[in-house]
Amino acid sequence: MQDDLIELDKQHYIHPVINYRAHEKRGATIFKSGNGAYLTDIDDNTLLDAFSGLWCVNTGYGHESIVNAAQEQMRTLPYATGYFHFASEPAIKLAAKLVEITPSSLQHVFFSLGGSDAVDSAIRFIVHYFNSLGKPNKKQFISIERGYHGSSSQGAGLTALPVFHRNFDLPLPNQHKIPCPYSYRLPHGDDADAVITESVAALKNKVSELGEDNVAAFFCEPIIGSGGVIVPPNGWLKAMQECCNELGILFVVDEVITGFGRTGTMFASDAENVNPDLMTMAKGLTAGYAPMGAVMMSDRIYQTLAGDETETAPVGHGYTYSAHPVSAAIALEVIRLYEEGGLLENAQKVTPIFEKGLQSLLSHPLVGDARSRGLLGALELVSNKHTKSQFDPNLKLPERISEAAYKNGVIFRSFSDGILGFAPALCFSQHDFELLFERVRKTLDDVLAQPDVKASL
Ligand code: PMP
Repeated sequence: MQDDLIELDKQHYIHPVINYRAHEKRGATIFKSGNGAYLTDIDDNTLLDAFSGLWCVNTGYGHESIVNAAQEQMRTLPYATGYFHFASEPAIKLAAKLVEITPSSLQHVFFSLGGSDAVDSAIRFIVHYFNSLGKPNKKQFISIERGYHGSSSQGAGLTALPVFHRNFDLPLPNQHKIPCPYSYRLPHGDDADAVITESVAALKNKVSELGEDNVAAFFCEPIIGSGGVIVPPNGWLKAMQECCNELGILFVVDEVITGFGRTGTMFASDAENVNPDLMTMAKGLTAGYAPMGAVMMSDRIYQTLAGDETETAPVGHGYTYSAHPVSAAIALEVIRLYEEGGLLENAQKVTPIFEKGLQSLLSHPLVGDARSRGLLGALELVSNKHTKSQFDPNLKLPERISEAAYKNGVIFRSFSDGILGFAPALCFSQHDFELLFERVRKTLDDVLAQPDVKASL
């Protein structure tokens, strides 16, 4: 049975963002069940999942109340479109709930199926907005080096990871980047004010280079996630918003990873009292129990898009599964669990344990940096702590780390440049964290014991 599955997978299943040939050799790791913070694979190994699936299962696995909400909705009304003025109760309630829990600037919600199409929708709405306003020249978009904004045809160009561009003819000519506020690797990285000032200056310079009248929007993640869990200094997000306001360009915060309690507040924007013009979200919205994303926008943008009743052309944007009632029912229950089920509270309680655990690994010979905000964190491995040099890619350290971690019963993300990413579920207990750091340390020790790794230090 297992061998059959692995063979069928190799023959037919195209997996996202991996080397297809390497996968044909290696085969899939197949999970069969999950409970709380733990996954079980088809060989009956139990793994501590310190990455919440793909930074999404913020509640943990196996919540009966979510299953019940889905079941109930499937039984009563499994589908209703939002086209033709139709709607369903959970979709309307969810839209209102999202307006309640997001920054006050955001008053209207468009539902997508995940993060990539939320970003793509945001881009389409922005283009429509400026055309409707009679400012058709405002078509240039700016984002951040190492940023990630999904893999849609346009969003992948805002993403700044080379593998998403290569052979895809991206980025588009109207997509531009400014440097990443990567404190660990900046010469003045210890000086938060200098890092912020530099980002603000870079945005100003880029806008003046492109011409203020030509720039539509600046997109950023409050914490750069898929680019290596890079945590900008406190105050950075606010400063970027103020700069966008000053320059007359839209400020779009991509909270696909950072939303829904991941960084200690419901949204990372809350911590800095930031009021974006648009916000994208997904992942924690349904905690991965069903696909759903959203783009939220200010009333000002909505009113311009809405035009007036005599307008002949509607805003031609939508999906069959926008505001899917089952996903919406799940999201409502998931948000209830964050707010009233104690999950946000637990996340805040255990965050110091998480931080301390990461910091304690700084003394390990492989670890150059430990950083986190809330329950989103990273360790950065270096071959020399003084020069911060990265390991020779030929060592294939990331793959070795992932394998050793799996053998030690823990899953986290091992990025290609020696960064280890952690996004434990908001239900993690003190015991789960003790196990996590014991297993991470053992994994680092096991890899360090390999002679070629030791020799490269
Ligand atoms: N934006 C950000 C910040 C993300 O982290 C991701 C996914 N990791 C996306 C967009 C794309 O979301 P999805 O994979 O659901 O399409």
